[in-house]
Amino acid sequence: MQIEPMMKAGRSMGGQGAVVHGMHVGDKNPRQIGNGTKALCGTSCGPRSAGWAHMPNLQVTCERCTKAAQRAAAQKGE
Ligand SMILES: [Zn+2]
Repeated sequence: MQIEPMMKAGRSMGGQGAVVHGMHVGDKNPRQIGNGTKALCGTSCGPRSAGWAHMPNLQVTCERCTKAAQRAAAQKGE
């Protein structure tokens, strides 16, 4: 399972308090993730938003995404 750090693009991007979500991109190119694709926590970008930005150098900061990733990793280890 490939979890990539993704941020909602736009004005808040890179600013303080901007949340970095985790997303399972699989075989897809993280740059080609569409607005409607959901992060692990279930959030997605609206159709009129700037979409997702791949932030490979950042850590996932969304708590719900982090927990979902940990759960998935734990299940895989069974
Ligand atoms: Zn999230």
